[in-house]
Amino acid sequence: MAPANTSHITFQPNDPTLIPIAEKVFAGERLTFEDGVALFRSFDLLTIGQLADWVNRRRNGGEYVYFNVNRHINPTNICAYHCNFCSFRRDPGQEGAYAYTPQEIVAQLRDAVDESVTEFHIVGGLHPEYGFEYYLDVLRALKQAFPWVHLKAFTAVEIDFFAQMTGLSHEEVLRRLIDAGLGSMPGGGAEIFHPEVRRRICPEKADADTWLAIHRTAHRLGLHTNATMLYGHIESYEHRVDHLLRLRALQDETGGFQTFIPLRYHPENNQLGKRATWTTAHDTLKTIAVSRLLLDNFPHIKAYWVMLTPEVAQLALHFGADDIDGTVVEERIYHEAGATTAQHMEKIELIRLIRSAGKIPVERDTLYNIRRVYDMPLEAIEAEVIARRRERIFAAARARRQRVRLQV
Ligand code: SF4
Repeated sequence: MAPANTSHITFQPNDPTLIPIAEKVFAGERLTFEDGVALFRSFDLLTIGQLADWVNRRRNGGEYVYFNVNRHINPTNICAYHCNFCSFRRDPGQEGAYAYTPQEIVAQLRDAVDESVTEFHIVGGLHPEYGFEYYLDVLRALKQAFPWVHLKAFTAVEIDFFAQMTGLSHEEVLRRLIDAGLGSMPGGGAEIFHPEVRRRICPEKADADTWLAIHRTAHRLGLHTNATMLYGHIESYEHRVDHLLRLRALQDETGGFQTFIPLRYHPENNQLGKRATWTTAHDTLKTIAVSRLLLDNFPHIKAYWVMLTPEVAQLALHFGADDIDGTVVEERIYHEAGATTAQHMEKIELIRLIRSAGKIPVERDTLYNIRRVYDMPLEAIEAEVIARRRERIFAAARARRQRVRLQV
């Protein structure tokens, strides 16, 4: 249980339009569409952040910041769709196109994954020729090779594509994936729900109602899921608020969402980048904070360091975010679009980032079960993590030598 801290704050907004909104927040009243737009339009970032931080403290204690030890897996970048913000997709045969077999995926991970890894985050292209069986085989092969690792896999857009491919219902697709090892669903593919934007950036994708219906079905089947919003391109503040309120309405109904993750749009190497540019740290921090304020029924708000940069993600921990994602390892999707962050962050670096923001790092699993609270002195944590890492490197080298001996 996170330490409680509901102490009041000294509240002196520079923007007087925020006063009635703040009164609602302190009274625990739900914010409206108009409140959301007013928050986005205000430049009083510190007041908005202060309110979001207060909500995070009331809801989650405000001291714990979650992370996990995970790996990203993108089985293929070949995709039948043509979202114009996407720098990751390739056509079959195009330079840089790839599609790994399930066995290749397992082989790539064999030496790198030990029992410290608790999650595989699996998303990728919608391969026009591979059948549903390919995706089931990826899950089965991973579950067989790494039975302790939770498989968080396939966005609602992928689920919808599998249903179209097979003629199965969304529910039946999900049931078959669960049988193959699916543990939960990521929140991707949501982009911006409003049709004015959606038809301009990803017209082939499942529409908002379909995306939401798939998550509703997943929640009914007992899966926890996440939700995202791709912001900072051609959408208006009204579109963002509409998006957040649609998520809030579904969460009222099902309670199945765990985390909301605002995803900053990256404009390099994609068509949309000709019309849109990088958004700012100011906008990012405000988006995190407004999300915390509007999504009063979401347990967690994530500052995904890969998208935001570690520096801005760290600041976001004082703007309502209480999760910073994980070690990741080999992120491809946003790096193709110009992300300048590393593709991997060591656990000790995540811990340092959280600790130097004055927060307590908490290692979690995918479902937010606490694995460990790192509340001891940083030097002790560093010594332990480095010793463990050394042990793992030696163990992997021993396993490699043994495999070579067996092959000889
Ligand atoms: S965002 Fe996903 S569905 Fe859209 S083109 Fe890229 S890989 Fe395909």
